[in-house]
Amino acid sequence: MSKGLIVQKFGGSSVANVERIQNVARRVADYKRKGYDLVVVVSALGDTTDELIELAHKINTEPSEREMDMLLSTGEQISVALLAMAIHKLGFEAISFTGAQVGIITDTAHTRARIIRINTEKIKEELKKGRIVIVAGFQGVTLNQDITTLGRGGSDLTAVALSKELCADECEIYTDVDGIYTTDPRIEPKARKIKEITFDEMLEMASLGAQVMQARSIEVAKKFNVAIHVRSSFSTNRGTMIIQEVKRMENVVVSAVTLNKNESKVTICDVPDKPGIAAKIFGQLAESGVNVDMIVQNVSHTRHTDISFTVSKSDLNKALKVTRAVGKAIGAGEVLQDEDIARVSIVGVGMKSHPGVAAKMFQVLAQNKINIEMISTSDISISCIIQKKFAENAVRALHDKFGLAK
Ligand code: ADP
Ligand code: ASP
Ligand code: MG
Repeated sequence: MSKGLIVQKFGGSSVANVERIQNVARRVADYKRKGYDLVVVVSALGDTTDELIELAHKINTEPSEREMDMLLSTGEQISVALLAMAIHKLGFEAISFTGAQVGIITDTAHTRARIIRINTEKIKEELKKGRIVIVAGFQGVTLNQDITTLGRGGSDLTAVALSKELCADECEIYTDVDGIYTTDPRIEPKARKIKEITFDEMLEMASLGAQVMQARSIEVAKKFNVAIHVRSSFSTNRGTMIIQEVKRMENVVVSAVTLNKNESKVTICDVPDKPGIAAKIFGQLAESGVNVDMIVQNVSHTRHTDISFTVSKSDLNKALKVTRAVGKAIGAGEVLQDEDIARVSIVGVGMKSHPGVAAKMFQVLAQNKINIEMISTSDISISCIIQKKFAENAVRALHDKFGLAK
């Protein structure tokens, strides 16, 4: 009798070399020995995905997205096979699969495909035979048999989606930190591990740059109420539970500080100040699949304005191309780019009912002589765009002043 089904996901750093793959194999085998059924999702070894992207850009600065997916999916195919071999060596039965082989069906949006459905028969069949099933993270296949990938960090999504579809008893995300911290512990050693965090807070943190979990995976977890245990693959400590609701007497005002260095700023100068212009610019950007983040339009006294917005670095070239073309068509001035920016944010559900949080954030930045270039807010977060060279300082100062440090 099985004790239950656990989906375990191991990130790139957890399988970065032979010893670490063997470590993962031992952990998985331990659970099997205890009587659990296991579906194990694995990411590409170490920095493989980054290296493959770099390699592609050496060949072609604008590679086809379909071919990118063909290339990137190979990373995960390597790790699943190696992990299966490592588990065999320990005397257990395991079988590895690509996303396509286990029927992870996606739409055709290459490099950021969405899962449409998962045909779980194959996995269930293998589990019935007593095998540990190892699935390549981050990938799927279209109905046309084209391989797709699920966006950076997409192995988290594979794990959550499989947990949901297989009605797993647990979903564990193993990584190189002990759980979710009040900020990236690599930037602030005084960061504290959070015991429990809500889907909403984690989603906000992930969207604002805390790369420890992929934002889309949290969206799915929230939608289907899949509790996630984020923990370290190097220790047996309990990590952080990401769940629907955390029972606290009162919500904390600020629970985390995040940093995102993956955005760039684009400014279109001297835009004619009349109705329909913003719709034209951002309509064109949307049509070419560019996700625009913060937008600021400066006040105009001259019937011309400057419009600035941020996009993720990977979209910058596309955004510049589109913006220059539209700019020309509407009679705007030059288009400037700034890649040396960073977004620092504070996140907390208690912010909703506490005035003065934004003011305090701006004061902390001012005290540290950090200029704010753009501001945006949501119900449970406040973000500032600042110069990249101040990023880590800003994170530490905010973490300290909002009382998050140990
Ligand atoms: P994996 O390879 O396991 O997917 P990632 O590199 O994607 O791991 O995510 C883990 C990293 O996320 C950590 O090493 C840490 O530096 C970073 N990180 C950023 N913000 C946080 C946070 N609030 N809590 C924990 N880790 C964080
Ligand atoms: N290997 C992919 C990436 O680096 C997916 C993942 O790690 O989750 O984005
Ligand atoms: Mg990751």
